[in-house]
Amino acid sequence: MIAKKKIFIVASMTMMAVMFYLWGHSDGTEGRVIGPIGASYAADNPPEPSPTKTREMDVYYPGTEELKPDEMRVVACGTGMPSPRPKQAAACWLVELGNGDKFLFDIGAGSHERIAAQKIPYDYIDKIFIGHLHVDHYGDLASFWLGGTTMNRLTPLRVWGPSGAKPEMGTAHALKKMEEMYVWDIATRSGFIDSRGMALEVNEFDYKAVNKVIFDENGVKIRTIPAIHAIDGAVSFILEWNGLKFTYSSDTAPNSWWLEHTKNSDISIHESLLPPGLMISKQGFSPEEALMVGTIAHTSPVQFGKLMSMTTPRMAVGYHFQNDFDTLPVMIEEARKVYDGPLVFAQDYTVFNITKDNIRVRESAIDEAIFPEPATKPKLPVPPPTSPPFSEFISSGTEQFLDVVQPMWDKINKEYGTDLKIPQ
Ligand SMILES: [Zn+2]
Ligand SMILES: [Zn+2]
Repeated sequence: MIAKKKIFIVASMTMMAVMFYLWGHSDGTEGRVIGPIGASYAADNPPEPSPTKTREMDVYYPGTEELKPDEMRVVACGTGMPSPRPKQAAACWLVELGNGDKFLFDIGAGSHERIAAQKIPYDYIDKIFIGHLHVDHYGDLASFWLGGTTMNRLTPLRVWGPSGAKPEMGTAHALKKMEEMYVWDIATRSGFIDSRGMALEVNEFDYKAVNKVIFDENGVKIRTIPAIHAIDGAVSFILEWNGLKFTYSSDTAPNSWWLEHTKNSDISIHESLLPPGLMISKQGFSPEEALMVGTIAHTSPVQFGKLMSMTTPRMAVGYHFQNDFDTLPVMIEEARKVYDGPLVFAQDYTVFNITKDNIRVRESAIDEAIFPEPATKPKLPVPPPTSPPFSEFISSGTEQFLDVVQPMWDKINKEYGTDLKIPQ
C-alpha cells in the first residue's frame, strides 16, 4: 500500500514538472524580447483621456458640509459596549442643528476621539447630556473636559445629568468627585494655559421627572423621561427643534414613558443588546446572566422592534452591541419579527442628515491624523501659577541643555517677534 502511494506521488510530481516546463516554453517566446507587458494592447487600443473631475461619494467627510438652516445631523460617536474596542467606542451621540447648536448625548469610554474626529472646535461642543452614570455613558467626560481645555476650549463645559435615589448617587456628586480626582491635573495647568474652559457648569435634574423641560435655549427644548435600568437614576432624552424630534434612550428596559412620549420621532435611537443566545455564545455569559442583562436590565432586539412598531419613528436606530458581520443579520432578523419600518443598526461614525422631507444615512471617512481646531476667541494673558511648580529638591535635578535649548528660544523669539526668556 505504502509503495503504491510513493509511486503515485513521484508520478504526480513528474507530471507537474512537465506541465511547468510546457507552460514556460511551448509558446515559442523563449529568448524573445517582447517589450513592456501590454505594449501591443496599448498600441491597438489608444487610451481615452483620464477624467480629471472627481465624483461625489456617498460618504460623510467631517468638517466639509454646511448644515442647512432646517437640518439636523446626528453622528454616532459610540455604539458599543462598556469595554470599548477599536471598532466601537461606548455610548455617545452628537446632535448638530442648523442653528449652529451642538449637543452630546452620553460620552462613554473611548468616544472622545470620535468626537475629536468631527473637527469641531471644543468651544462649540459645550453641552453634554448624560443619561446615567455608568462608565460606558460618561467614562470619557474627564478626558473631554480637561483634554479639551488643553486643546483650546475657552468656554465652560455645561453638563446635565440625573439625580439619584440618594444625593451621593447623583450627577452633581459624581462631578464634584471628578474635580477632586483631577486636582493634580488642574494644578499643572495653572500659570501655563488660559484655563477658562476648565469651569464646569453642572445641572442636575430630577430623574423621576416625566417629559419635563430641562433645557430651553435658542429654540431648542430638551425633555427627560425616566428610564428603567439597573437602579433608580437613569433617564432618556427627547430633543425638539424646528419641528424635528430626536429621541435617545441611553440605557433602558422597555417602559411606558418611552411608549407614551417618543411617538412619531424623526429619529428614535434606542439601545438594543445582542439576543441572549449570542450573549452566551460570544460574551461568555451564563444563561441566567444573559437573560437578566439582555431582557430585564436592557432591551433585546425583538423588544426593540416592538418599541419601534408601537412608536412609529421616521427612522429607528438600534445601538449598544458588537456590530459585526455575524451579529448584524441576527439583530435584523430579531427586530424584523415585529417591526417593518425604517431601520438602521448604527456603527461608530454612521451619520444621519434629517430634514422634514428626507433622512439620509451614510458612513463617514475619518481623518485619523487630526490636530485640534484653533481657539475661537483670543486667549487671555495667563496669570502667574498659584503654587510653585517644583520643590527645591525636584528643581535640583534639572538639566537644561542650554546649548541646544537657547537656540530654540532665540529662533521662536525671532520668528514671532517675542522676547521670551528661559525660566531660571
Ligand atoms: Zn448602563
Ligand atoms: Zn450602556
